[in-house]
Amino acid sequence: MPLCYPNLRYMTSLIKSIQDIKNVIAKSQKPLALVPTMGSLHAGHISLIQAAKNECKTTIVYIFVNPLQFGPNEDFNEYPRDLTGDLKICEENNVDFIFAPEASEIYPDTGSTKNNVIHPPEELENILCGKTRKTFFSGIATVIKRFINIIEPDFIYFGEKDLQQLYVIRWLVKEFNLPVTVRQCPTVREPTGLACSSRNKYLTPEERTIAASLYKSLKLAKGNTRSGIFPINKSILESLILLSHFSEIKVEYFEARDKSNLAKVPDDAKHGFYYLIAAKFGKTRLIDNIEVV
Ligand code: AMP
Repeated sequence: MPLCYPNLRYMTSLIKSIQDIKNVIAKSQKPLALVPTMGSLHAGHISLIQAAKNECKTTIVYIFVNPLQFGPNEDFNEYPRDLTGDLKICEENNVDFIFAPEASEIYPDTGSTKNNVIHPPEELENILCGKTRKTFFSGIATVIKRFINIIEPDFIYFGEKDLQQLYVIRWLVKEFNLPVTVRQCPTVREPTGLACSSRNKYLTPEERTIAASLYKSLKLAKGNTRSGIFPINKSILESLILLSHFSEIKVEYFEARDKSNLAKVPDDAKHGFYYLIAAKFGKTRLIDNIEVV
């Protein structure tokens, strides 16, 4: 009969310095998983951790609110931070290490950092979220490359919720020939359908219910297109009409983009693309997407 130790707690080590994480990695079993996050962990992050645990012998979650990916008027200072809560979640999910370095460790070249920023190709960087978040994807590409260089993971896990980010990462790995396999994990949602996000913490329960209409509008567009009722542009228009009933929601974009490369798709496409939305709910910016298969 297996022994049972009900009070035995999994210990996740919190590691702050590059040298320390390199030391523990040297003694850890492979394959090695890396789950990049900005902390304030929720069910979406947990699904990435579980995918990592299923595939790898050692799992590292990094927690780093990356200054490089925030614009000057964005919420870098207000971004929710909860290291104690994150540690608990990681322990509950048997994570081996949290790596939470200071920005000065990741960007020791402060001052000249600008010269070392990686820019994804224009057709990935300047579309969708990149139109309003000018430094976002270069910030993402730069930080992920640095963490991959430090940790040298075998597998790295990303959520489909941040779809454009995923395409940027795939480009990054190919462009720099990085020896890591990228895993794409499905979007985890609250019971209302609202995609889990650290920024949902900015919303009251009532606001979260209204914000769930983002997903409803995506499902509506998908249904209208798949059933052949409307072509893409008219499907988008119908969804925008649905969202216009909520004065709190200001849509930034609602677009259809090709699954293979996020290029624009012809109006009569019926599948093989995503509908993607970004909207502001008060000061809170939310994104979501749905695949039209
Ligand atoms: P963040 O902490 O927001 O930078 O997100 C870290 C990782 O978690 C990214 O790969 C996200 O795509 C992923 N993620 C965030 N929200 C969700 C979600 N609702 N479902 C699945 N993955 C998610």
